[in-house]
Amino acid sequence: MKEVFNLYNTLTRQVEPIRPLQADRLTVYTCGPTVYGDAHIGNFRTFIYEDTLVKALRYFGYRVKWVMNITDVGHLTSDRDEGEDKLEVGARREGTTAWAVAKKYEQSFLADSAALRMAKPDRLVRATDCIEQQITLVQELEAKGYTYCISDGIYFDTSKFPTYGQMARLDIAGLQAGARVAMQEEKKHPTDFALWKFSPTDRTRDMEWSSPWGTGFPGWHLECSAIAMSTLGKQIDIHCGGTDHIPVHHTNEIAQSEAATGKQFARHWMHTDHLLVNGGKMSKSLGNLYTLADVTARGFDPLALRLLYYGASYRSKQNFTWHSLETNQKLLDRLRQQAAELPETGEDTGNAAAPLAAFRAALANDLNMPAAVAALIETMKSPLDPAAKRAFVTEVERVLSLGLLQEPEKATAIPDKIRQLAAAREERRREGKWDEADAIRRNIEAAGYELRDAVGGGKSQIRKKAQSK
Ligand SMILES: [Zn+2]
Repeated sequence: MKEVFNLYNTLTRQVEPIRPLQADRLTVYTCGPTVYGDAHIGNFRTFIYEDTLVKALRYFGYRVKWVMNITDVGHLTSDRDEGEDKLEVGARREGTTAWAVAKKYEQSFLADSAALRMAKPDRLVRATDCIEQQITLVQELEAKGYTYCISDGIYFDTSKFPTYGQMARLDIAGLQAGARVAMQEEKKHPTDFALWKFSPTDRTRDMEWSSPWGTGFPGWHLECSAIAMSTLGKQIDIHCGGTDHIPVHHTNEIAQSEAATGKQFARHWMHTDHLLVNGGKMSKSLGNLYTLADVTARGFDPLALRLLYYGASYRSKQNFTWHSLETNQKLLDRLRQQAAELPETGEDTGNAAAPLAAFRAALANDLNMPAAVAALIETMKSPLDPAAKRAFVTEVERVLSLGLLQEPEKATAIPDKIRQLAAAREERRREGKWDEADAIRRNIEAAGYELRDAVGGGKSQIRKKAQSK
């Protein structure tokens, strides 16, 4: 018998033990990034919590198969199948093709994920690499009478799926009454969604495929059902994503998957809530849509951001400020310093058992990371013997992934003063005050640090200059 691992389930609105479909195996599907721009720190809050869940389940002895998709086609600017394909918007912005944009930002996502010490999913599948499976799924739905065709595509008729919107507790009648104005005129019901969209007749899209219904591209929701079911089976154990996916994207995934198979699609749904910045929404227009590059340009370790995420339950909103990141960087530096003082080898005294039990209890209690980190902090300052502390840190790192035991030279922290200078320089650069930015740069360099600016207006990196002998 495995230890019980409790996790909140959006389906039932309750914290429930995870009960695998088969023995000690767990299948986990997480919605991946839409690769038309850099993922921001709000997106990464969700990804890091998913990575932490997978690591925690493995730590508890489950054999987890984790699949994530890469959305590289079909995600429109409105989640309700309206507007432009985000990849095409990105292509126009950068004067290139949708394919080039997808490649560029997929690589950038993978680099950021690695810097944040995310494990690689067992399968990372691009939407454009499984067009065939998506077409097959639409054919299955068509054969069962769930689809209809209008001028811009093939749609799913949500009125034929009686439990539509159950997870999101959607007020279908209210939606019908309220959405008449904004709705695509030919759609039968406001909640109906596109399975296959036709290409425009007056031009060729960068990304389009032929299908039994005409040339076009898959609707955004379709890829997740097709990828999850073709890699993990008709039923999966845990499906994860951000809370913003509940009312539309995940609701539609459930409808099309369950309509096709007649089986429950995912048994457990985990959703991570939003990250706020300075108490408000993140947005491009407010200039606070920060990415990992913004974090490193200010001299912070990416893993300080990872530690910051652990400061709040995934189920509540979390507020990001540069000051809170500063606090977490200091905490991370201190924990690494404490870990560095522990002996490399030592006898396992068995004394780590009690603090490890506290750590495990925190994980199994709905992935309570604030409590898990508290167990770490308490243990490091406790009178526990150094060998036991070392054993404890080694174990918890399997889940926390904070680089607590990394080589000391790699852990060289950037001092506060230098970080503040780097932040001030970033501000000047944003404002176009190049002379002032250059003056600050010279101060940073005089203090023994170097700044490496990315080409093409990207963010800069800061690091300690190599010591000359
Ligand atoms: Zn998805």
